[in-house]
This record gives sequence, structure tokens and C-alpha cells, in this order.
Amino acid sequence: MRRCTSADAPYDEEDVPRVAERLDVSGRVLVQAPDGLKGIAREVADVLEGRGCEVVLDAGRVFGACDVTLGLVEGVDCLVHIGHYPIPSVERRLRELGVRTFFLPTRGRKGVEEWMVEEAAEVLRSLGVDRVDLCATGQHVHELGRVAEVLEREGIRARVGRGDSERVPVPGLVLGCNFSCLGGRPVVIVCSGRFHPLGARLRTGRPVVQIDPVRGVVDPESLEEEVRRVLAVRLSKVREFDPGEGVEVVGSTCLGQRREDVLEALGGPRWEVRYLSEDVLRAVRCEQCVYCGCPRVPVDESARFRRWVVLNPAEAALALGGGGEYRLDEIPTDPSVLRALRGLRDGRGGSAADGVPGAGPGPAAR
Ligand code: SF4
Repeated sequence: MRRCTSADAPYDEEDVPRVAERLDVSGRVLVQAPDGLKGIAREVADVLEGRGCEVVLDAGRVFGACDVTLGLVEGVDCLVHIGHYPIPSVERRLRELGVRTFFLPTRGRKGVEEWMVEEAAEVLRSLGVDRVDLCATGQHVHELGRVAEVLEREGIRARVGRGDSERVPVPGLVLGCNFSCLGGRPVVIVCSGRFHPLGARLRTGRPVVQIDPVRGVVDPESLEEEVRRVLAVRLSKVREFDPGEGVEVVGSTCLGQRREDVLEALGGPRWEVRYLSEDVLRAVRCEQCVYCGCPRVPVDESARFRRWVVLNPAEAALALGGGGEYRLDEIPTDPSVLRALRGLRDGRGGSAADGVPGAGPGPAAR
């Protein structure tokens, strides 16, 4: 019987049920997986059931290792979470609650090929870049050593940062809410989709070259266009925000999205949900809210919330005049954001327009 360790992870998806056969689990077990891996979760449930466990499957969306609530783990002896590396602070909290946890991160179905790295190096050279911060999502972080070697051979020095140990368990790993492994150089990111490259660009303000193992090297200019579009939408919401018109605070019940410092800074009553949806906003009858759960929800799901002003804490801080330029909201929360939010609690907030850089969309920098 053994625990999952970063030494033997990530796993191929189809190997996960076999790994589950060897886990030291017993009693009532909660099994979680993102939507794309729910079938694997079901197979794992059968394996654990066969070993005498009582299995409960989480039907929720499960966007990350952050996504476990107190309600879900009540009366549970073990948690088996498939698809993501653990968030250390969440894992510790679960241990304190007496829940044995097993995070089984999975690797991408397709890996990085050498020609992709060579092409990325060519793009970097064309940008005049010879030093980068190298990072990846959990599905590809195990490939960073190999990618760094090829980059070095191509004359690009790659640094893989350690990141915040409370949130990031392995070097070079980025979460949508935490890019602490990046150190201010231009970025090479290995991942699929646009969620993480967008976050890296908003966090650093530096060029971001994406190696997507499915699509190959993505043109950095296409990301710039996306950044301009996203910033235009977000800054218009920040301008619309009016602290004098009634603002609801909405927190998250997910252990890895709970932001007690933000809630304390904002003060007053708050609503709590696992997922923010249009139905929730209709139910609480608010026109404006500061959402203190996953900081990417207001940004990346803004189309769903078009008729409301939904800001994350850093955006609310910007609206109150305490944030300078637009910044990516991250967990843990930047102290300057907390200071600005206390202004809202104490009724010292300025008008929304005070804090918005007049020129509109521009490069984001921290
Ligand atoms: S808080 Fe949001 S961005 Fe961070 S790990 Fe959870 S789902 Fe991902």
C-alpha cells in the first residue's frame, strides 16, 4: 500500500484504476475527477468497491485540486482525486480533518515533440529573447526537463522556478490562479488551451510562447490579441463598478478557493457557493458582486455574466483606486489588494473611475 508521490506521477489515464488497486484506502471514499475523466473515476469506484470500500462519486465539475468542500468530505475517510497535482495547503487542511488524501495527477495524452521546442526557440530568437521562464500545467510539467535541454541546445537559457510551496507542489507548475514560479522573464509555457497562457501573460506582461502538444507552437501575436480583448472587457466592468450602489460579496465553499483574508477585508455578510452561476446571481438579486472564489471565473466566464458586474478581488481593488494597473488576481492574495478592499469595508472607496488607467487596455504588469 502506498501514497501517490511526485516521484511516480503523473500517471497515464488508463493506468489510474490499476494505481487505485494499490492505494492505502478503506472505509468511505470520495472519488473526484474533472468531467473529462469521470469515466476513469467510475472505473476507480469499481476497483475500490471491490476492495470493500464504500464509494461516493462527486458529480460536480471539479476544475482543480482546489475543488473540495467541507460538505463533500463530511463522514469521509479518504479522498481519491484524479487528474490534478495536490495543492499543499488543501492537502494539509484535509489531513487536519482526518481525511487521508490521494491525488493522482494524469499526463496529457500527447507529449511535446522535439521539433515543437526547436520551433519555439526560433520564435524566441525572432523576438530577441535568449532567457525564459519555463512552466507547464500539471499534464505536462514532467516534460519540462526535456524541454529545457532542447531549449539550451538551441541557445535559450530556461529557468524552472520553484513557486509558492503552499499552492504549488512541483517546480514549474502553474495554476490558473498562481503563476508564482515565473520570475519576470519572457515565458515558455507547455499546455493545451488558452487559459494558462492568458494568465501567464496577464501576470508577467512579458511575451508568452506556448508549446501546445496537440497544436504545436502557438503564434504569440494571437495571444496578444486575446489579451487586448480580455482587458477591454475587464476594464469596462471595472469602470462600471459603483461601490455606492450596493455590492454583494460571494465566497466559495471550496477549500482551495476559500479566501478568508479577502472576506475579512471586505467584511459584512456574504453568500457562499461552490460554483458561481447566473442562477446564483439572479437568486441573490444583485447587480454587482465581488466574487472571492476562483479568481479566473469573472475573467474567463465573463460572457455568462454579461448583464452583471462581477469582479474578482484584484479588480474590485482596482475599481477602488488601490490597484494601479490591471493585475491578474491570484491566490494567495496580494497585500495591496487587501488594503484597497478594506477601503470598501470602511466606506473609504473612491469612485470606480478613479482607479482605472485612462488609456484603456494595455500591457498588464505586476
Ligand atoms: S482556484 Fe481556479 S484557477 Fe485556481 S486551481 Fe482552482 S479552478 Fe484552477
